[in-house]
Amino acid sequence: MQRYDNYINGQWQAAASFAPNINPSDTSDVIGEYAQADAEQMKQAIAAAKAAFKTWSRSGAQQRHDVLDAIGNEILARKEEIGTLLAREEGKTLAEGIGETVRAGQIFKFFAGEALRTGGEWLPSVRPGVEVEIIREPLGVIGLITPWNFPIAIPAWKIAPALCYGNAVIFKPAELTPGCAWVLAEIISRTALPPGAFNLVMGPGSVVGQLMTQSPAVTAISFTGSVSTGRSILQATAERGAKVQLEMGGKNPLVVLDDADLDVAVNCAINGSYYSTGQRCTASSRIIVTDGIHDRFVAAMQARLATLKIGQALDKSTDIGPVVDQRQLEQNQRYIDQCLQEGGTLAFGGESIRCETPGFFMQPALFVDTTPEMTINREEVFGPVATVIRVKDYDEALAVANATEMGLAAGICTTSLKHATHFKRHAEAGMVMVNLPTAGVDYHVPFGGRKASSYGSREQGRYAQEFYTTVKTSYQSA
Ligand code: ADP
Repeated sequence: MQRYDNYINGQWQAAASFAPNINPSDTSDVIGEYAQADAEQMKQAIAAAKAAFKTWSRSGAQQRHDVLDAIGNEILARKEEIGTLLAREEGKTLAEGIGETVRAGQIFKFFAGEALRTGGEWLPSVRPGVEVEIIREPLGVIGLITPWNFPIAIPAWKIAPALCYGNAVIFKPAELTPGCAWVLAEIISRTALPPGAFNLVMGPGSVVGQLMTQSPAVTAISFTGSVSTGRSILQATAERGAKVQLEMGGKNPLVVLDDADLDVAVNCAINGSYYSTGQRCTASSRIIVTDGIHDRFVAAMQARLATLKIGQALDKSTDIGPVVDQRQLEQNQRYIDQCLQEGGTLAFGGESIRCETPGFFMQPALFVDTTPEMTINREEVFGPVATVIRVKDYDEALAVANATEMGLAAGICTTSLKHATHFKRHAEAGMVMVNLPTAGVDYHVPFGGRKASSYGSREQGRYAQEFYTTVKTSYQSA
C-alpha cells in the first residue's frame, strides 16, 4: 500500500502513524495510507511557515503570479486524473469530480491575475503638504482547515488567495479526503515557493487542527466545516484575538411559486437537493411550495427521482454517488426516522440500498407534509434528503424561507419579476438564486452566508482580500 507523507518546510515527512483513505463506493478499495501528524509535526510546520513568511511576504507580483498560474495550469491539465481520484475518495460522480477539479484550477488562475492587480489608494491629506497612502499587506501564517465535501475546490479557494497576498500557509485537510489534498500539495511543492511557505499537515482535527487554532504564531484561521467545530474554533481564536473566517452549515430554502415553470423548478430541486449526494453546504434542503403547484410539483419530483441511477461514483451512468461514510449514512437515517416520527410522509426513497460493491448507498429521500418546526427543517442533514413545506402564498413562503438560524443560500423558482426581485432583496442569505439551483456558484465572485452559516468576511473573488490582508495607512510629509 502506497504511503503519502506530510509536506513540511519544503520536505516530505513521514509520521508515526498513517490512516487508510477508503473509497465510499467500494470499501474494499483502499486508495492509500496517509500520514497522521502529531503535535510535534504541527509545531514544526508552524515554525517553518513563520520563517518563510519573511521571504514570501516580500515576493514580487510576477513571482506570485507565476507560482499560482503554474498550479492552476497543472490542475487543469490533469483534470481527468485528479477528478477521478476525487470521485474515488469522496463519492461524488466522475463528472462532478472533474468539474470540481476544473474549478480549482480556475481559482488558482484567477488569483494569479489578482497578484498583478492588487493595488492601493493614494489620497491627499487634509493637512497641507502631506500625502496619504493606503495599502494592503499580508497577515502572516494562515491556518486553513477544510471539510471533505469539496476536497480540491475548498482548499483551492483558501490556498490561492492566501499565497496570492503573500501569506504563509498551513493546510489541514479533512481526514476523509486526504488524496486530493496530497496531490495539490505535490503540485505546489514543485513551484518556486520558498520552503515553508506552504505546508501540508494531514491528521486529526481534534489534535493538529486544534493546536493550529490555539497557536499564537498562527495569525489567522480560515475554516469550512460543521457549525459545532466552527464555534469551538471561534472560541479558541477569540481568546487570543486571531482573525478568523468560518463557513459552516446551511438549511437552504428553495421556494417554488404557483407561476414557476414546472420543469425549471424540478431541475433546480433535483440538482440542488440531490447532486453531489446532497453533501453541499449550499444544497436545497427545504423546498417551500405554494398550494396551486404543490401536487403537480411533488408528482413530477417523484417521477424524476425514479429515473436517477444511484451507484458507484466512477460508473459513468451514475447520477448520484454514495454517501461519504458510515457515520454520515447513519446520520441521514436518523433524520429520516425522526421526520417520520414527527409526522412527515416519505414521498420517495430514504432507504439504504445495495450495489455490486460494498459502499454507503442510499435512495435520495423526499418528504412531504412537513412543517417548519420539525427537526429535519431546522438542522442540517448533509445528505440526499429534502423536504417539501406547503404554504399558501409568496408572503408565507418568504417568511418560512427566512425562519431558520442559517443563511447561506436561498432560491426561488418563479416567472414573476415582482416576486423574484422582492425575494432577492428580502431573502436572509448570503447568496440568492432565481430559477437556478441553490448550489453551484461562480469562482470569481464572493461566496458566503449570514446568521449562523458564516462568520467573518467573504471568500472568493476580489472580496477574499478582506480576510487575507490587513490594511496599512501611511502618512508622509511631501
Ligand atoms: P464534518 O463533520 O463535516 O467532518 P468537521 O467540522 O468535523 O466537519 O470537520 C471539518 C474540518 O475541521 C476537518 O478538517 C476536521 O479535521 C477539522 N476539525 C475537527 N475538529 C477540530 C478542532 N477541534 N479544531 C480544529 N479543527 C478541527
